Amino acid sequence: MRVVVEEVTKIFDGGVRALDGLSLDIADGEFFALLGPSGCGKTTLLRTIAGLETATGGRIRIGDRDVTELEPGRRDVAMVFQDYALFPHMTVVDNIAYPLRIKKVGRARRRAGAADTATELSLAGLLERRPAQLSGGQQQRVALARAMVAEPAVFLLDEPLSNLDARLRLEARTFLKKLQHDLGVTTIFVTHDQAEALALADRIAVMADGTIKQIGTPREVFQRPANVFVAGFIGSTPMNLLAGRCDGDGIDLGGVRLPVPAAAAGLVAAGDELIAGIRPEYFVEDGGGDRAGIEGRVSIVENLGTSSLVTLATAGPTVQVTMPEGREPVPGATLRVAPRPDRMLIYRAGDGELVDGDPGGGKPVGGKPVGGKPARGDHTGGGLSPL
Ligand code: ATP
Repeated sequence: MRVVVEEVTKIFDGGVRALDGLSLDIADGEFFALLGPSGCGKTTLLRTIAGLETATGGRIRIGDRDVTELEPGRRDVAMVFQDYALFPHMTVVDNIAYPLRIKKVGRARRRAGAADTATELSLAGLLERRPAQLSGGQQQRVALARAMVAEPAVFLLDEPLSNLDARLRLEARTFLKKLQHDLGVTTIFVTHDQAEALALADRIAVMADGTIKQIGTPREVFQRPANVFVAGFIGSTPMNLLAGRCDGDGIDLGGVRLPVPAAAAGLVAAGDELIAGIRPEYFVEDGGGDRAGIEGRVSIVENLGTSSLVTLATAGPTVQVTMPEGREPVPGATLRVAPRPDRMLIYRAGDGELVDGDPGGGKPVGGKPVGGKPARGDHTGGGLSPL
């Protein structure tokens, strides 16, 4: 079911403004991530959608219903908590069947329903165990099964993978993505882990200070962050954010000059204070051809597995670039690199907003809902080329 959050504000007793006029429009069947740093309001938003917190202002709609005043049990949502919140004294089957018990489904039917859901989640052999006798991954699946058993219209997942170790987490991530795809149930999940959001979500809302800084597909927020905040937050290796001043058709970065990319041409003028945003992955090695490049001395080389992160001391700023396996330089070497012109972004130093002449380039959103139902599995929003 579609979930619409309209100008929702949440002010806690004591005056903390956890949500500040926040709006979202989540399509039926969408896998939607709320991503942001600690304290930005992710959990508060999820709990407000669930009805565990009351909005101070604004409306929440699920499907055709305005649920703003409804108690949690009548919203047709199921939530999976970070710590799973399983009942320790109950068996797996009784834990899973619990929502059916609340709905007063008879014992035989609820045990059968729980057993079916358990089988779907590969828990069939564990029905009579108690939570303490399960691994972390199994406990997580019991929590998911308990959320699924009553077939809610919306799943709300609060950091569902964060209690798992790194390897299990990757397995559980793949499992969760397949499960959500197979069930086709609208799912909103909270994470502070940008890699998790990029891997799982159809769309992501990047939050800060109770507001949304950008909504987009993983590709949009990765390739065209709408502002410096998102640019700095998304990406496993941080984006280079290089402050400089426009000199007409170039940006003077203090000792190094780069041409203004086509998407920003005509939108910036000499004297403008700008920030050039270039991901380490979007530099290419430049043998000194006609492409404007940056030359520097390699100071650090960090092994990332299939590539290396190279720190380059230039005549101007320090720049980080990734080099593919087999091409990594040695410390002390001279390296010349150039940004891919179609992947170099320009931000205004004042408000930190993207200077973007490409109208299909993943719009920032102020407070307005983003309309439209994305086609399932279609991640090619915004007219962008593949990663
Ligand atoms: P984290 O990733 O650390 O869980 P979050 O993004 O989920 O963070 P919230 O838990 O939603 O953030 O908190 C948002 C803000 O509201 C924080 O400043 C937090 O301290 C405050 N807050 C949360 N719950 C309450 C409460 N019950 N009373 C007062 N302030 C609260």
